[in-house]
Amino acid sequence: MPSAANMNAVLQIAVGFLSAFAISLYLSIVIWTVRDIRSRTRDVFAQVLATVLVLVFNLPGLLLYLILRPKETLAQAYERALEEEALLRDVEEREVCPSCGAPTEKDFMLCPECHTRLRRKCTRCGRLLSLRWTVCPYCGLDQQAPLSAPADLQVQERL
Ligand SMILES: [Zn+2]
Ligand SMILES: [Zn+2]
Repeated sequence: MPSAANMNAVLQIAVGFLSAFAISLYLSIVIWTVRDIRSRTRDVFAQVLATVLVLVFNLPGLLLYLILRPKETLAQAYERALEEEALLRDVEEREVCPSCGAPTEKDFMLCPECHTRLRRKCTRCGRLLSLRWTVCPYCGLDQQAPLSAPADLQVQERL
């Protein structure tokens, strides 16, 4: 039979361990929150607010923080911005027929859908030229009487 004094000592050790664990848990939660909020925002006010929330309320505070924290980390937001930029560049670079909107390539002379003239060949060097150019930028040949640009064609069709 363990004596009352022994029981007391065991209880004290158990309480000691439990408090140590509780304190470690508390500190870990605070440290984790500080690291997490710093990876998600550069706003000092938000950082302080999140830290105080978890310092004061701890576990319930952490729950609130998880609900309210910014969805993306700064690294994720940066990556997404890069992706969006690349996507935008793709769209800008894609050429379409000014008359029917069909996708065209940079070296098409005619629109394959509506046969609108998109470019013409230089009579001397054979390179493809924009209809708006009055001189061949490759060989310097003066392009007499440039064909009307696609934009003009559209206006004529509407009239
Ligand atoms: Zn077309
Ligand atoms: Zn030329």
